[in-house]
Amino acid sequence: KAAERMSRGNFSERIELPKQAELAKLAHAMNKMAHELDDQIKNVINQRNQLDTVLAGMTESVIAFDLEQKIIFMNPAAEKLLKIDEQKAITKTIQEIVRSNQLYEMVEELISNQKSISHEFNFGIEPIMTLQARSGLLHDETGKAIGGLLVLNDVTELRHLERVRKDFVANVSHELRTPITSIKGFVETLLGSEVTNEEQEKFLNIISTHANRLATIIDDLLALSTLEQQDSEGAFTKENIKISDVIDSAINSCSTSAKNKNITIQRTCREELRADITPSLLEQALVNYIDNAIKYSEPNSLVRVEAKETDNEIILAVHDNGCGISEEHHSRLFERFYRVDKARSRKAGGTGLGLSIVKHIAQSLGGYPSVVSSLGSGSSFQIHLPK
Ligand code: ADP
Repeated sequence: KAAERMSRGNFSERIELPKQAELAKLAHAMNKMAHELDDQIKNVINQRNQLDTVLAGMTESVIAFDLEQKIIFMNPAAEKLLKIDEQKAITKTIQEIVRSNQLYEMVEELISNQKSISHEFNFGIEPIMTLQARSGLLHDETGKAIGGLLVLNDVTELRHLERVRKDFVANVSHELRTPITSIKGFVETLLGSEVTNEEQEKFLNIISTHANRLATIIDDLLALSTLEQQDSEGAFTKENIKISDVIDSAINSCSTSAKNKNITIQRTCREELRADITPSLLEQALVNYIDNAIKYSEPNSLVRVEAKETDNEIILAVHDNGCGISEEHHSRLFERFYRVDKARSRKAGGTGLGLSIVKHIAQSLGGYPSVVSSLGSGSSFQIHLPK
């Protein structure tokens, strides 16, 4: 009876040792076998649970299939990526559940030629992802191939960041090269040939303008990199501050350039309005907005700085009656070095970094920037802060 129960998988059963020596020996052997089987099964279950936990916690998608390319396992990341439940996918072939020639080719190559491949390709439609895929064979205990494994890693964000970094380096180099080429050219002219006093003064002035431009670009780049660094270190401390004080300081910082164009800056803000912010950051963002409003407005015009509240936001806005920006540019305005009119921006002493600094600041404060503008009818630039 005990042997029958063991054959049904009950290995916790122990047989009392009978008196007869032969039966006692047999019972002892069966007890030992039951104990060892019990241990081994617990071991296998433990290992399977560990493997399940590891596979469930992986950000990579893992798909296992047999030699007929039928799915035998998918982890949760793979279910999410392919938008299909493991239960629905099991016994279907890879071709039935994934639309990707690159993946089929990898699976074919693996099953037919036993060749593991690593490959990167675009996957899906809107949004298109960049996937890094690796394939490998599954073996049974004798070493015979019984199927294959695909490991898929979504590297879209990584590749995007690499592209942004490369573009950024290319843009910085380009921005720095223009003033440096000019400075070099005029210095060589001054050193190499006879020039009149008048020409000398003219050339030195040009050199000075370009040197100032270099300094401004480098200041803005340093401001951006300091922001990024302090942000990632969580170094910004917030204080409960009166918004009108921050606006006043920002207006004050821009008063000279406003005066030079005879531009009036007006403030509209409830005195008691307060927010939890890093004042120096918000001031810098407002200065960049006001500075642009002055740069892109005609002399003798009006710039308005306004703070208002909605149910869940505090919105700071800088309105101008300047040249305005047509809609097609709005989505890219806050990118580094993006300018609508390069010549006008350079002439006005712009670096193309001002709005990207504002965007970074708004995000550091938990908010976001926005713009309302159309060509020829002024602009309103906003910073939305959570209440
Ligand atoms: P820049 O240093 O060139 O001003 P920004 O990043 O501050 O760089 O602004 C990016 C571009 O957005 C500018 O080159 C300009 O074309 C446009 N822009 C920004 N603010 C205004 C504004 N108030 N009115 C019109 N155009 C603006």
